[in-house]
Amino acid sequence: MSSRIVCSHCGQDWIEKYRVKESGEVFWACPDCESLWLESQKKEEETDLYISEFLESRGITWPSVEKVD
Ligand SMILES: [Zn+2]
Repeated sequence: MSSRIVCSHCGQDWIEKYRVKESGEVFWACPDCESLWLESQKKEEETDLYISEFLESRGITWPSVEKVD
């Protein structure tokens, strides 16, 4: 059985784990709708965050982030 979590916002994709290379901050995001969860948030519940807002708030762009397997 997979432990992957279906996006609770759109239900269209699995959420994936990512890390900000510089700070090491970890977050989860849905590739389909770009919803984003911080590590401290419950991934099974809706989120107000979006990837673009998160990146902007950290002053970084997508290449500053790497996927965590
Ligand atoms: Zn989604």
